[in-house]
Amino acid sequence: MKEIILLKDGEIALKGLNRSSFEDLLIKNVKRKLAPMGKWTYWKAQSTIYCTPEEPMDLEEALERVKKVFGVAAYCRALVTEKSYDALAAAAPDYLRETLLAARTFKVVAKRSDKSFPMQSPEICRELGGLLLSHFPHLRVDVEQPEVTVMAEIRERGAYLHAGQQPGAGGIPVGSSGRAALLISGGIDSPVAGWMMAKRGIELSAIHFESPPYTSERARQKVFSLIEKLTPWCGRIRCYVVPFTRIQEQIKEGCPEEYFTIIMRRFMMRIADTLARRAKMGALITGESVGQVASQTMLALGCTDIVTRLPVFRPVIGMDKLEIVEIARRIDTYETSILPYEDCCTVFTPRHPRTRPVLETVEEIENRLDVASLCEEAVSATVTHWFNP
Ligand code: ATP
Ligand code: MG
Repeated sequence: MKEIILLKDGEIALKGLNRSSFEDLLIKNVKRKLAPMGKWTYWKAQSTIYCTPEEPMDLEEALERVKKVFGVAAYCRALVTEKSYDALAAAAPDYLRETLLAARTFKVVAKRSDKSFPMQSPEICRELGGLLLSHFPHLRVDVEQPEVTVMAEIRERGAYLHAGQQPGAGGIPVGSSGRAALLISGGIDSPVAGWMMAKRGIELSAIHFESPPYTSERARQKVFSLIEKLTPWCGRIRCYVVPFTRIQEQIKEGCPEEYFTIIMRRFMMRIADTLARRAKMGALITGESVGQVASQTMLALGCTDIVTRLPVFRPVIGMDKLEIVEIARRIDTYETSILPYEDCCTVFTPRHPRTRPVLETVEEIENRLDVASLCEEAVSATVTHWFNP
């Protein structure tokens, strides 16, 4: 018995002329995921990618891997048979036994792209449906909302039989939308924000600001674990760790307490802007959500945005905390995010932060500091780490 993995692309199919390059990128991303398991061959036809193992392979593990590839709308394992109805009919009852025993209703869908095949699709459906009913008499046919859809595909290279296709990660392939820098803290929101933008095809780098000795080695390790948790979805991630202590101390010394947070955030944006531009990234990503905390009011966001001319993507901007937490749990970052280590943002938190900062006042206060050289100093002391899936 030979089995392969089928991946259905979703939105890619809508991409018109670019479709082929999207599909090639998707195959490249899938290959990267499956290559460590052994040798595979790939081909694509009709919005489907056929992944054939060329040596014995644990297909369940392979499915676990492709589940996290953006651009895959649905996936399943499928049986390969010789291209004849008799071969399909001989294999189907055994191959589908477990799935069909657990279901009450089903239907058969046939697809025939090899027009030289002697039976037409409706005939294949009828015959195969009848055969399965005779083997599993508890079943009923439901063409509207079947619990199980049995697919018989007659393609150029062979016939394929499968059932129980699962929804994939969705989105579009990572790398198809360029690269952007995720400002990542150890919190719940920023990893989710990064994941959401990767789902839209963006390849991520990460930027993390730390303030030793106020922030600990464990806080940094926590951020590294979060990045590691993103890699199965996002691929290789480069993380820039920016020393932020001196800037924070200078702000504390030179600026009124209620402006700490907003000025600190402007420094973060400026430094992120420089790092992103140097590496030819096209946008910044943050985990901010309107009204969640004092630094995330509309006016405060306005004061931070103005220091960068890169677009700032905030995919969780309109989401409730609970909605963000739901995604964090799904992508398995939540348990790490709630570990209690301090972040540089929490080190010098003002008691009464300005929720309606006035830009001119912020700029005036900030100009007491040597902004340009502080930023330059931080950028040149930045170190990078690579994280592989
Ligand atoms: P998160 O859960 O992502 O930490 P938050 O609700 O705690 O978000 P803030 O601490 O105000 O909010 O941070 C807002 C955003 O600023 C974060 O989502 C992140 O993108 C960025 N940010 C905060 N702290 C850091 C840091 N130490 N390094 C890099 N980016 C940071
Ligand atoms: Mg935070």
